[in-house]
Amino acid sequence: MRPTRAEINLTKLAENFRVLRRFVASNVKIMAMVKADAYGHGAVRCSQILQDEGADWFGVVTPEEAFELRKNGIEKPILTLQGFWRGQEKTLIENNITPAVFNFEQAESLNNAAAEMNLSAKIHVKIDTGMNRLGIRFDEAENFAERLKNLKNLEIEGLMTHFASADDAAENEFTALQTKHFDDAAQIFRAKGFNPTILDLANSPATLDHCETWAQMVRIGGALYGIGGDIFGCSKTFAKLQPIFSLKTEIMSLKNVYKGETVGYSRTFRAENDLVVAAIPIGYRDGLPRQLSNKGHVIVRGEFAPIVGRVSMDVVLIDVTKIPQVQLNDEVILIGKDCRRAVSTEDWAQMCGTISYQITCGITARVPKIFV
Ligand SMILES: *Cc1c(COP(=O)(O)O)cnc(C)c1O
Repeated sequence: MRPTRAEINLTKLAENFRVLRRFVASNVKIMAMVKADAYGHGAVRCSQILQDEGADWFGVVTPEEAFELRKNGIEKPILTLQGFWRGQEKTLIENNITPAVFNFEQAESLNNAAAEMNLSAKIHVKIDTGMNRLGIRFDEAENFAERLKNLKNLEIEGLMTHFASADDAAENEFTALQTKHFDDAAQIFRAKGFNPTILDLANSPATLDHCETWAQMVRIGGALYGIGGDIFGCSKTFAKLQPIFSLKTEIMSLKNVYKGETVGYSRTFRAENDLVVAAIPIGYRDGLPRQLSNKGHVIVRGEFAPIVGRVSMDVVLIDVTKIPQVQLNDEVILIGKDCRRAVSTEDWAQMCGTISYQITCGITARVPKIFV
C-alpha cells in the first residue's frame, strides 16, 4: 500500500471534547460540527467518539451526510445546516433528521410531507442577523413567523444564527448587534405563539471568546479538531486543545542533483550546491497545495527538509542533503510533529494564503485515514 496517509488521533479528539465540555457551562448543549467529513478528519469515526464522550447534537450540511451518520450508529439528534433538497422530505423525516430551514418553500414542502405521513416534523429556523448568507432576514422574521403558523405539521424546535466575525475583537460591536437582532427575532417567535427550546448562535470563536452568546447550545467545529489557531488562537482555552490530524508518507526515491541543475516542472528551483533530493509520493491530487512549491518543509529524522521545485500532481521533491543517514523508506511528516520539530495546518495555511480549515478539508479521498 502507498505509505501516504492521514493519521487521526481519536484520543486527542476525546480530550479536546472534554476540555470544551468543562469550559462551556454544564447546562449548555454542545453540537459537534462534523460537516464536510468532520473537516476532513472522518465524520463517522469522529462522531462515534464524540457521541460516547457526550456530544448532544451533530451538525452536518447535507441529508446525505446525516444518513451516513445514522447508518453508523449515531442516534443523537442531527441538524442539516442546508436543510434538504426537493424530494428528500420523507427520507429526512424517516431518519429523524432535523433540518435548518431558511425559506418558506422548504417549510411548506416539509410540512406537506409530514402531513401525508400523519406526524409532526421538527425544524430549526435559521435567522440571518448580518452575515447575509443563509437565513431569514431578522427584519423579516415577523412576517415569516406569521406564515409558519399555517403549517400545522411542523414544530419549531430551534432558532439559530451564525456570526460573521466572532473571531475578531475589532468586530465585537457587530457580534453584539447580531446577538441583539437574534434576541429580537426570538421574542417575535414567542409573541407569535411558538416556543423554540433550543436557541443557538456560537461557533468555535464565539464559544471561546463570547460566553454571552452560549444560549442553549454551542456549535463547535474547528476547536474540536484542535485547528483554527490562525482564526481564534488568542483564546486561553485554545491553548489547551491539540491538533488531531497528521499527514505522513515515506521517501520513495533518493538521488544526487549537481550544482547548477534544476528540479521539477518549469525549472523553478536551481541547485546552488550538490544536493541529495528525495521524492515523496504525495501531490496536489492528494491535497498538498501547489502553493507550497519552493516554500514548505517536511520533517525527516527530526530535521526540516525543504520542498524544492513545483509540487506536482502525485509527487513532490524535498532537499535531504542535510539529513544524516537519510534512507529510502524513511518516514516523512508533512503535517504533525516528532520529538523535535512540528509543522501545523496553520503553517501551511499561512504559506498558502488561506485558513487551516481549508487545509484539512482539502486532503482528498486518495489519502487513507488511519485512526489511532
Ligand atoms: C461550520 C459552522 C459552524 C462551526 O464553525 P467552527 O468555526 O468550525 O466552530 C457553526 N455554525 C454554522 C452555521 C456553521 O456553518
